[in-house]
Amino acid sequence: MAFTELIGQTQAKQRLGVALTGEPGHAFLLVGPSGIGKKTLAREFAKGLLCAHPTADGACGTCPNCHYMQAGTHPDYKELLLPAGEKNIKVADVRSRILSDVGIMSQIASRKVYLIDADGLAEEGQNALLKTLEEPPKHVVFILTVSDESKLLPTILSRTVSIRLLPNTEEEVKKVLLERNPDIQPEEAELFSRFSGGVIGYALGLAESNWLVNDWEEVSNLILRLPEISRTELLTEVYSFFDEEKEHFRDILSLMSMVYDEMAICATDASSVCLHGEAKKDKMVSVIKKYKLDVQKIGKCNAILTTAAKAHKANGNFEMIVCRMLLALKKENTNG
Ligand SMILES: [Zn+2]
Repeated sequence: MAFTELIGQTQAKQRLGVALTGEPGHAFLLVGPSGIGKKTLAREFAKGLLCAHPTADGACGTCPNCHYMQAGTHPDYKELLLPAGEKNIKVADVRSRILSDVGIMSQIASRKVYLIDADGLAEEGQNALLKTLEEPPKHVVFILTVSDESKLLPTILSRTVSIRLLPNTEEEVKKVLLERNPDIQPEEAELFSRFSGGVIGYALGLAESNWLVNDWEEVSNLILRLPEISRTELLTEVYSFFDEEKEHFRDILSLMSMVYDEMAICATDASSVCLHGEAKKDKMVSVIKKYKLDVQKIGKCNAILTTAAKAHKANGNFEMIVCRMLLALKKENTNG
């Protein structure tokens, strides 16, 4: 696998490609949200660093170094990751697996590469690594990955070349989803990719569980029915749905906002493609017409959702937040 086979991250891949064909530095930091693909890219870069004939597109894939990397047995490559269930990487592990190893010469490749999950390094672990990062042996390259760089000491940041991984486009996420899950419905792939915010790992996780598809169905039906639901039903049955899904409240607000965004698109151009499928699209168009919903009104609905999200973040009373929100939405959706 070369860089071109990894979807997205064009800028990051370009910068890593330049490093591979020139004289790479001694410490790189890949920064990006959890699930964006930092480790996948870091491993590909490591493979390029160890490869006998790397190009700007990464490792050659055929030299002995590449074969060892593919088999996961390259003696000059080590990973220090956060063990499952642990809060931090132990400082003793930083010492035994990295610090006492860096001085030993490489066996097959011209250099040694260490991949370190810096999200797992508490301050003590970072301090232990600092001196080696400052004056690394010539044959050593460190690749650190981190999702929250504010947790890193300024001295770590200043000693590493930082490369940011950006959210993928919806199209890129969809492509990966369909590649890995050939059975997935195109409409579902669309939903997951939109909801993932461009984070491929998150989208793949969504595809493995049912909640998003179920809640999307529930939420879009609710919004389309909203003008006709009585106040009593709203405050009892509808409320109980929110109460059952309490844990997902923010996600549900995001889903509701996605439905309103779709309505806004439908309100301006009814022929535009719609996430819901044809049957629901017709219903959406008729609701928009009947209640004279326009972009401005739909914008107000989104503002109501934002207010609810803020109140929830500030630990407001859940029942009050939900009931206020539902009544405000109903009012906005019903008034001619
Ligand atoms: Zn190679």
